[in-house]
Amino acid sequence: MSIRVEHLSKNFGSFEAVKDVSFEVRTGELVALLGPSGGGKSTILRIIAGLENEDAGTVRFDGEPVGHLHARARKVGFVFQHYALFRHMTVTENVAFGLRAQGVARSEAGARAAELLRLVGLDGLGKRVPSQLSGGQRQRVALARALAPRPRLLLLDEPFAAIDAKVRQELRVWLRRLHDEMHVTSIFVTHDQEEAFALADRVLVINNGKLEQAGTPLEIMDEPATEFVAGFVGEVNVIDGIASEGSAVFGGLRVPTGSFADGAPVRVVIRSYDLKFWRDDSGIATVSRMQSLGDRVKVEARFNGSGSLFAQFPRRSSLLAGMEPGCRIAVEVTKSRAYPLVVSG
Ligand code: ADP
Ligand code: MG
Repeated sequence: MSIRVEHLSKNFGSFEAVKDVSFEVRTGELVALLGPSGGGKSTILRIIAGLENEDAGTVRFDGEPVGHLHARARKVGFVFQHYALFRHMTVTENVAFGLRAQGVARSEAGARAAELLRLVGLDGLGKRVPSQLSGGQRQRVALARALAPRPRLLLLDEPFAAIDAKVRQELRVWLRRLHDEMHVTSIFVTHDQEEAFALADRVLVINNGKLEQAGTPLEIMDEPATEFVAGFVGEVNVIDGIASEGSAVFGGLRVPTGSFADGAPVRVVIRSYDLKFWRDDSGIATVSRMQSLGDRVKVEARFNGSGSLFAQFPRRSSLLAGMEPGCRIAVEVTKSRAYPLVVSG
């Protein structure tokens, strides 16, 4: 089933939580809503589910407006960060719950629950109660429960946020594989860009109630549409300056500013992996710090009178040859983007 959200707005009192948001999710697609906390992601999800009413705009399932449909009639599966499983019920009873509520016979619901537990890799744990499961296993039960009634749409609101990093990464890979098998149209909310990029076919960046950009993970990384997106995804250097003949100067480094007119205040954003440093005794900057990040090395360099920039290289990069704190380096910008700088005050 495809989803279309058109000009969606929602206020809480005088606070605009969602502002004129439009997007589409294609049938079978897994889309991530990515953005900082408080941006309106959950509100958008809850409106799609029918758990919250929109103030303006339309949500369509397969082209049909669903504003008049109650949550239950929308046939949507929902998984929350803290999806309270019923503690006194076994795993099987939890998964079968939605089916039983729909009047499906106990034996049929049980068989479907067993099928789903196999699918989420919890075969044989049906007789346990939730307290006998790990956090990751519980969320997989929650997912099995959401999928049991064969929803037309699966909504996941930060389902792995409360789980520790290593298990979270495993769940991510696992969920993507599951999605590739089932192809249920899915919307996944997260504030974790790595999670969004690893999981989703497309990412919608939401900030401050607004959709900043919709695109594939690569588009979001390489062609950030707004300054917010540029600064939110990836580790970035931010340089404020004045455009002059297509560039701004930062401590002897010229950074391209594109089409800005001479004299325009600009903010240039450079991702840490879009900077190249290499040892050069007549270079324009000085290495101030080198930090190991496991398989990568982060190098911070001081630019005369202007502050510091940092770059990241794979541990075995030839650019790191002879580099050490205190040495001079040459610098190249492989990619940057310039945005108008709003000078306040
Ligand atoms: P996110 O999921 O991106 O963190 P939310 O959609 O939960 O953001 O919230 C967006 C904003 O709306 C927040 O500032 C939040 O406090 C506010 N908000 C959400 N739900 C309500 C509500 N029921 N009443 C009042 N304010 C709310
Ligand atoms: Mg939320």
